[in-house]
Amino acid sequence: MRILITGGAGFLGSHLCDRMLAEGHDVIAMDNLITGSTDNIAHLAGNKHFQFVEHNVTDYIYLKGELDAILHFASPASPVDYLELPIQTLKVGSLGTHNALGLAMAKGARFLLASTSEVYGDPQIHPQTEDYWGHVNPIGPRGVYDEAKRFAEAMTMAYHRHHGVQTRIIRIFNTYGPRMRLNDGRVVPNFVKQALKGEPLTVYGDGGQTRSFCYVSDLVDGIYRLLMSEEVEPVNIGNPSELTILQFAEQINAITGNQGGIRREPLPVDDPKQRQPDITKARRLLGWEPKVDLAQGMQQTIDWFAPRVSK
Ligand code: UDP
Repeated sequence: MRILITGGAGFLGSHLCDRMLAEGHDVIAMDNLITGSTDNIAHLAGNKHFQFVEHNVTDYIYLKGELDAILHFASPASPVDYLELPIQTLKVGSLGTHNALGLAMAKGARFLLASTSEVYGDPQIHPQTEDYWGHVNPIGPRGVYDEAKRFAEAMTMAYHRHHGVQTRIIRIFNTYGPRMRLNDGRVVPNFVKQALKGEPLTVYGDGGQTRSFCYVSDLVDGIYRLLMSEEVEPVNIGNPSELTILQFAEQINAITGNQGGIRREPLPVDDPKQRQPDITKARRLLGWEPKVDLAQGMQQTIDWFAPRVSK
């Protein structure tokens, strides 16, 4: 297959480039490098099956030649990023998704949308199943991301129903691993960086809010299986093992031997209180479930961050 990966120089996008090349496909990574980095794909330079195109998918996408699949991963993805880039976040989720779908239609390519657990907002059911419609504040600071992704899902289903485009929607829950940006503000890079510097870990609020963390290789495997499947409706991919942010902080301090303890900081507005994917559907339809536990995955992540954090 010849595959376009938008956001291909980002954290998930670059891991997808690696996986698709390993599967024997040709890959075009497209990125405007606002939050992505060519560092993430530097090892692919010179690979004749790989090409990088610097482009903002919010603008019309022109691409020569045939295309079999588009993986649409372009978007700021951390709360700090989308608070700093609110208009770009809304535009890439709406205009960018429209452009990518238009390209999929023109090329007869399969289209996979990177959606998110944020479509569930601050969820009132637990764990979250795909049939839950969510609890999102449209005008809150996180609304720029949540509503853009909800619009992107609606647009994807419209292209499927109205134009017959073969579409897939993955709802991605918290994912971590090598190549996360050191300063993206998310909890994993923040805690790892702080722990490696011997500083206190910044726990927002009382730390009682929960998350469920999935290692990147597991996520990428779920994406690949979904792309190859026939499922049109959204599928949750994430690791259901849930813990509080306070427990997570204590675990990071224990793994790294950090003596810095923790420091409380205010809870961001509309920070979801609990989040855990129900992955019954992924298990049943894709035969997928995560394999890497938090201790293993965090060790890999810490090893990757260590040489990049200046003490
Ligand atoms: N968080 C924290 N300290 C940090 C960064 C994040 O306590 O330095 C909390 C944040 O309030 C949220 C959780 O960790 O409850 C996960 O935040 P993240 O930004 O990684 O992504 P989210 O899951 O909120 O999209």
